[in-house]
Amino acid sequence: MAKIVVVTGGVVSSLGKGIAAASLGLLLKARGLRVTIQKLDPYLNIDPGTMSPFQHGEVFVTDDGAETDLDLGHYERFIHASVTRSHNVTAGQIYDSILSRERRGDYLGRTVQVIPHVTDEIKRRIHSLSLMTEADVHIVEIGGTVGDIESLPFLEAVRQLKLELRRDVIFVHVTLVPFIKAAGEVKTKPTQHSVKELREIGIQADILLCRSEAPLDSDVREKIALFCNVPTEAVISATDVKSIYEVPGVFHDGGLDELVVQMLGLPSRDVQPPDLAAWSAFVRRVTHPGRQCEIAIVGKYTHVRDAYKSVIEALIHAGAANDARVHLRWVESTDVEQQGAAALLSDVDGICVPGGFGERGVEGKIATVQFAREKSIPYFGLCLGMQVATIEFARHVVGWADANSSEFDPSSEHKVIDLLADQAGVTDKGGTMRLGAYKCALREGSLAARAYGQPEVEERHRHRYELNNKYAQQLTSRGLVLSGKCVGRELVEIVELPDHPWFLAVQFHPELKSRPQDPHPLFRDFVRASLERRRARLGDDVFDATNETSIERAEA
Ligand code: GLN
Repeated sequence: MAKIVVVTGGVVSSLGKGIAAASLGLLLKARGLRVTIQKLDPYLNIDPGTMSPFQHGEVFVTDDGAETDLDLGHYERFIHASVTRSHNVTAGQIYDSILSRERRGDYLGRTVQVIPHVTDEIKRRIHSLSLMTEADVHIVEIGGTVGDIESLPFLEAVRQLKLELRRDVIFVHVTLVPFIKAAGEVKTKPTQHSVKELREIGIQADILLCRSEAPLDSDVREKIALFCNVPTEAVISATDVKSIYEVPGVFHDGGLDELVVQMLGLPSRDVQPPDLAAWSAFVRRVTHPGRQCEIAIVGKYTHVRDAYKSVIEALIHAGAANDARVHLRWVESTDVEQQGAAALLSDVDGICVPGGFGERGVEGKIATVQFAREKSIPYFGLCLGMQVATIEFARHVVGWADANSSEFDPSSEHKVIDLLADQAGVTDKGGTMRLGAYKCALREGSLAARAYGQPEVEERHRHRYELNNKYAQQLTSRGLVLSGKCVGRELVEIVELPDHPWFLAVQFHPELKSRPQDPHPLFRDFVRASLERRRARLGDDVFDATNETSIERAEA
């Protein structure tokens, strides 16, 4: 039976609960334990797939095709293992299954209630993931902030778990200890209130992870300990850091993993001191790079960095693999439409057009691709970025001026990107795209095959539209290389241009599989090509610490 660590958050949202859960997972795994992490989201959507990126940020897709919360991306990156559909439970899913059972008559004669029916279903999903993963430690992160009405059934369910499993369950609460300028000191009251709020619903926090600008003094920790009813060593500073990848180190230094192991009574013969050598080496490459380059991300959600979470992280991993800091320049594709690509993109080293939906800004993305292609700037297209690359090629190289995707112009004569028959009849919006992992066969000798170093790969998808095979022959005859094909289905997955320093675009989302310990080969080679352009353009690519820009801010 797995031991359970419940992670909750208090005071304000965006305290980095997901990173905290992922970091604890990493530390426990580094001690030789089998770890799994599950996210419970209190909202009523079945999954975040139908929410706007402005609202929810990135939708993280798992191998088994679930559309999930972006925190699952952190889990995969930190614990270096793949999660599944069962790792993200929403209130919507819970109610959906209970209400279907009610209609079937499973509760005949009874009143269906939050307690026990909803709470039982929540506990059932926690237990079933423990069993499925055979984890030693099962970390359960509860979305939202303590005090939200919505999260109450989830908190009640884990309160019951504690009652049932006693020493096998502990509560870690992530909270904020703000520095108040006017008073010249940090304030512990918000933390006290939020721990009290938990206590009112029957949960006593065991460990507090206190987000603060600077490490907390011992008297502050003692005060928090006293008022929150925890031992002083359980008040751990979660000091602000530049890179999220430094968080496991901060927690380890604060004694978190040791404390969790002790509190859960994990026999010391089972747990080694954590082996953090490889992780620390990676963090060092992130924080102390030798080189640098600047890559433009041209999209339409560029002021909501969470919308591109995995793309940002994949570029950080690829940077580390090349001993480089990748600076990001965020460019709104509608600005490209108004100001022209040359004005915004002439002095970057690489250009990436990531995934997206809807017509707004698409012409700016097509102009971006044309600029990258004609000016020999390394180009990496992700999903929509592959579709616009195909449209651009069809318009300006093949000469079909009206070429488009039926998503943007259903009346185009040359729909080089189109819905296939199996998507054409779909009316439901939720969970109906091409989702999850598909095998892709690579063309021998292509840029893609050389990057991956293997003939077949598996990548995750989230899209409706595909390259229209009707035009494949004409596109290739003019020089577009179709270097990746779906195994078992006639679908183009990768396009590239041979007469260009580095031009490659994929129908899938490689960013979802990049990990610190295993940077994605396409991102790695894209960054390498961008570094080469920088050196050719400026004569050197040496890292300049005075030129620190967006990537740190993107992570904050
Ligand atoms: N809108 C495009 C499609 O549905 C691309 C989707 C994406 O970039 N994820 O096919």
